[in-house]
Amino acid sequence: MTLDELLQKALNLPVKKRKRLLQSKQVTCDGKIVTDRMLTIDSGLFDIRVKGKRIGENLGHTYIALNKPKGVLSAKKDSEFTTVLELLKEQDFDESLSIVGRLDRDSTGLVFLTNNGQLHYLFEQARFAKEKQYHVTVNGPMDQKMVEVFENGLLLEGGTQLKPAELRILNQSMSESTGLVTLTEGKRHQIKRMFLQCGVKVIGLHRIMIGPIHLDKTTQSGQYRHLYKEELQELK
Ligand code: URA
Repeated sequence: MTLDELLQKALNLPVKKRKRLLQSKQVTCDGKIVTDRMLTIDSGLFDIRVKGKRIGENLGHTYIALNKPKGVLSAKKDSEFTTVLELLKEQDFDESLSIVGRLDRDSTGLVFLTNNGQLHYLFEQARFAKEKQYHVTVNGPMDQKMVEVFENGLLLEGGTQLKPAELRILNQSMSESTGLVTLTEGKRHQIKRMFLQCGVKVIGLHRIMIGPIHLDKTTQSGQYRHLYKEELQELK
């Protein structure tokens, strides 16, 4: 929304008074004076103050961290399967919300939803890539060789060159192992393809982090929460 709309929504002032406020340099954005009423601004992401008092923290965009259960689609609508959007309560449901970083239907964990198009665009751009972390279970061993292969950037069958990824082995045996994988990109079925190329199959994939957003223990499978102020600040 524009700065003018924000002032109107947060303070309910007539246009003359809004203009006067800006002209008198009493409005700041992250500590800097702003005077352009047409400035596009997100009061969830920026610290907007009038005479030093923060305004509009809850106005504008929606930011949701959802814990996706198995079998639910990272989509808005589907004729066959339940979608992540359908897990939202009526008061939070908004068709303009989009999913940042999808998970496969059989994967679980953190999905980030927002209707802030600008932020969504930034997340999709490789140069602004955020780290994503996954708890992974495979049907065989994980070893130091895999750690190095991931670290060097795997070349997938079909010729896709992957960026370096981190694998931290948590538990390992010949029949089942678990590890933490950190990626800075999101190619289709990337983690499944990475492990398959190393000779094991992913049997459990649970995302626990997207940049500054962490899946906290209180957000049970199928539940969600709105982002904390600190997370919003870090998303900028
Ligand atoms: N990598 C995968 O293979 N699947 C996901 O859902 C996410 C990352």
